[in-house]
Formats: sequence, C-alpha cells, structure tokens
Amino acid sequence: MQPILKVDLSSGRSEAYLIPPEWERSFLGGASLAARLLYPFLTPELDPFSPAAPLLFLNGPLTGTSGPTVGRFVVCGKGPATGLWAESNCGGFWGPELRFAGYDGLWLSGKAEEPVYLWIEDGGLQIRKAAHLWGQDTYETQEAVRHEVGRTGVHVAVIGPAAERGVLFAGIYCDHGRTAGRTGLGAVMASKNLKAVAVRGKQPLPLVHAEHYSTLRSGSNRALKQDNQARVLHELGTAGAANFSEYLGAMPAKYFHQGGFEGVDKVSGSMMAESILSGQSACHACVIACGRVVKLEDGAKRKGPEYETIVSFGPNLLIDDLKEITRLGEMCDRYGMDTISTGNTIGLAFHLFELGKITAQDTGGLKLQWGDVAAVRQLVRMTADRQGIGNLIAQGSRRLGKHFGAQEEAVQVNGLEVAYHDPRGVSGMALSYATSPRGACHNQSDYFFVDWGDTHPELGIEYFSRHAQAEKAANVARHQNWRTVYNSMVMCIFANVEPQMQVDLINAACGYDWTIEEMMRVGERGWNMKRAVNNKLGLTAAHDQLPKALLEPLPTGGSEGYVPDLQGMLSAYYAARGWDPKTGYPTRARLLALDLDDVAKDLWG
Ligand code: SF4
Repeated sequence: MQPILKVDLSSGRSEAYLIPPEWERSFLGGASLAARLLYPFLTPELDPFSPAAPLLFLNGPLTGTSGPTVGRFVVCGKGPATGLWAESNCGGFWGPELRFAGYDGLWLSGKAEEPVYLWIEDGGLQIRKAAHLWGQDTYETQEAVRHEVGRTGVHVAVIGPAAERGVLFAGIYCDHGRTAGRTGLGAVMASKNLKAVAVRGKQPLPLVHAEHYSTLRSGSNRALKQDNQARVLHELGTAGAANFSEYLGAMPAKYFHQGGFEGVDKVSGSMMAESILSGQSACHACVIACGRVVKLEDGAKRKGPEYETIVSFGPNLLIDDLKEITRLGEMCDRYGMDTISTGNTIGLAFHLFELGKITAQDTGGLKLQWGDVAAVRQLVRMTADRQGIGNLIAQGSRRLGKHFGAQEEAVQVNGLEVAYHDPRGVSGMALSYATSPRGACHNQSDYFFVDWGDTHPELGIEYFSRHAQAEKAANVARHQNWRTVYNSMVMCIFANVEPQMQVDLINAACGYDWTIEEMMRVGERGWNMKRAVNNKLGLTAAHDQLPKALLEPLPTGGSEGYVPDLQGMLSAYYAARGWDPKTGYPTRARLLALDLDDVAKDLWG
C-alpha cells in the first residue's frame, strides 16, 4: 500500500508514514491494519474528544482498482459513545481518490485552533480556513469545498452540524449520501476542528501484478453481475429484503417489541421500485449499484433510503409512509447523523413515553405517539440541535435510558444501538451483536444471510436452522473471520465473491501467495486484534451481552416464542475462538498462534 499522510492539526505539521510491510501482510489493510496501528495509542484514559485522540482513515490494498465493490475506505478510532474500538466504512469515491492522490490513509491528531479543511492533491497538502463552512450541512459543505478548490473530480469527506455539536452518533459523509455512519467518528473529527477533507489525484495504482489483476477483476465483476443477490440489490436495493425479513420475524417493529409489521408492503424495496424510484446509484466502479435515487413531489432527484433507514424510521416507529421515511433519512444525512442510532434512540424515547418513564414535561409538551411523523421530525431536529430532550437523545440510547432510570430498556450493546436484524428471527445475530468489536453491529458479521441459507462450504460456513443455538457458534466465528477480511480489503459485504477469487485478487494486487486458509487466518488475526484493543480498554466477558428486549419472546410474528440461548451460544463461541471464558480475553496460546506476541504479553504479562 501507499504511505499514510499523518497530520497534526495542532501544529499543522505533516509527514508521510510508511506502513511496516510485515503488518500489511499480516493484517492486509482497512480496519484490521488500523487496529494494529492504533493499538498502542488507544488507552482507557484517552478522551475520544481530546487532541491526543487519533482518527485514522484507511484504504484497503484493492481500493480504487475497480475490482468487485472495493471502492471503499474505513475510519477508525475510539468511539465517543462506547469508549471502545470504533470503525465505520464508507463507499462513494473518496477512498479511491485519496489513493489517486498518492496516499492510502490519513492519520489525524491534535486540534486546529479554528475550523479548517484539508485539501490534498497529488501528494500535496493545504490546511485551509473553514470557519465560513461551520454550520453548513453535509451536502452544502461538499459543494462549497468543491467550488473553492476549483478542480473537477474532487471528492470531499465532511461532517455536518450534528458532529459540530457533539452528537455521539454523528458520522462522516461523502458523495451523494455515502456514510461512515456508525460509532460517532464524525464527532471525533469535529472535536479536531476539521470540517472536511477534499482529495484529488492522478497517481498510478500500486498493483504488483497489474495485468493479471486486470484480467481477474474483469472476470470477478462479470460473475458478480450474474449473482442472484447482486441482481436483487440492483433492482430493489437493500430494502428488497424487507418482506422476507419481516416474514421471519427478523425485522424489528415498535422498538423491538412487536412481532411483525402490517405495513411492510408499503415500505418494501418493491414498493419503492413501483412508486418513487427514478434510478440506481453506485460507489466507485461497483457493478451492483444498490443505491437508490428517488423523486418526491418536488421532482428533485434525491437519495432513497436503504433497509436500515427504512426500518429505523418505518416499522421501528410504526410509520408506513415511504416518502416521509425518505425525508427523515435525508434530514439525518444533511445533519450528519447515523440513521440507525438516530431512529433507534428515538424509538427508545417513544417506548419510555409509553411506559410513563418519559412524560410530556420531559419533551417540552411533545406527545410521543407511535406513528406520529411530525413528532419524529421534531425529535430529529432537536437531536441535531441538542435542544431539550434532543440533548439526551444525542448521547445515544444507553445514556438516554440511564437518565430516565431505565438503561435496561435501551436496545444497544456496549453503547452502540442495535441494527435491524432481530436475533429472535435469525439466531446467529445474537452472537454477531454480543461479540462485535464496535458494539451491536451487523456489518462485522451479517450472519442473517447465512441463517437465510447462504453457505460457503469452502470456508467451513455451513447452514444451521435460523433458530439453532450453540451448535452454530463456531460457524459464526468463521463468518466473522471472513467478514474481517472484507473489512480489511475494504470490500462491500453485499458482494458475493467466491473466496478463491478473493484470494486471487489479493495475491495479484499485493504479490502474495496466499491460500484461502491463509486469508482466513488473517481474518482471525484481525478479529483478535480488535478484541485485544477492547480488552485493553476494559472490555471483558461480562460485556458480551444482549439487551433485555432481545431476550424476551414475542407472542406473534415469525419469531413467535423464540429467544436465543445467549449464554450457551457464548460458551461454545469462546471454545471455538480459543478465548478465556473468565476474562473474555483471547488466550495467550491463541494470540501466540496468531503471531500476536506483543499483545499476548500485554494482556497476560
Ligand atoms: S453494493 Fe451498494 S454499498 Fe456496496 S459498493 Fe456497491 S453501490 Fe456501494
């Protein structure tokens, strides 16, 4: 990979940092490599909003190569809501453009005296004033920066007003609504007084066997175009899965307290295709193009919502109006707030209102009645502005619940709000959420696909019933290892690329001679590296939990009467992982087997 550009925003000094080649080979790139690089700097005492806190943007070894869905980058650091490892990857065109500008990463530290933005072009860096941009929304900011730098082909990663005000689930945005949305790293960027990073370049790609790679790339993209899942994603977007997910009891409704949602047909991907859809959009060189372009009454083309946003502002709040959901999603994008955490935390507010733990006195007179779009809109605005109860919502569901003496009601794990794949409908998600390194996350292992029947025998990923328990634990661990490879590449998890093709692409790009087994070992190493970061930050076995709501059976719907046996699953999972059940740490033997000797020494002495 190319060097990382290190910028100290306090002094304005910058330098090119060369990634140690042995770490590149052992961690591949993206989030795993970031965990390795940041491990010494992430300490329990580190305030994520202090100038000392690092914020690392990183590419993978294939970013920008027009391979299958590899136009992505990841942002990593310490999560302000979780206090744990934070990572969030993002599509669009920014990652490839950073690579074309001569860097594969951006390592930020310090804090600028006043708001600034970075302009990186073909290896050069300018730190420019941005006070006039502070307060502008994410779309306005991109437009203004592009205009100011005055070049074509510029891509800009930005924060919105929510990040500036310290909303703990504020993200980083680029292109048309592409988002590093989860874990609040937009707020970390804002704490450095950094509004945007604009990139542009024309440097050649650092591919070891460029010609061979080019042949493989064409073949893998052709195969991906024919893949059934990819075709559904192209036609219907991620919301194409809404009906099936609801049927299985895997799509939460009424803040995870209702089995099924009658209005699902009104918010599905098919309904979008038949009503407001006007086209598709794609990240860099992606042949799937899962992004939705929709038109509402004003006739303007805008980003259409994907599955998570639809459920967050739809079934989760008992809203079945696709146009309103689209508008709520756009509000969040413009303010720069993660739609999963925003909708989830607002869902908690509605739930606590119903329980009588929040009253109209707490909300400034606003009645939180399920399905009331105007009330949701008001809460989104108040959250971004940190006004009234919005100031509490802005701190995420764990803190909101705690404030009202009802932390156990918050559907979150370790401070990150649960995404919309209910483990009562697809049991593998119980382990995915409980053990994910960044809190409840569906991207570290989207195991629901395996529970739907998507197997990979060559990786040892077999099918178990969607309600199987401990017997699928080792399978979940293998799936996590594989997705860790994706998150290192940084490749989109929507791409069903054959593992052998994946290895061939890596080998051609990097000059390695890996086998599938070696690739999976790199995935396992990355997973354990992130676990070790978290263990160092204080995470133990006691943190591998699910919220109360997900361990209570629903009386109706596709998951009727079922709850995952989390403790049984965890025991089997720890055994499969080689983790110590008392501490939750990877054992010394496991760490040594993965060549993580220094980490073994740190954790075990
Ligand atoms: S499948 Fe969708 S999210 Fe993934 S890279 Fe392609 S356009 Fe982007």
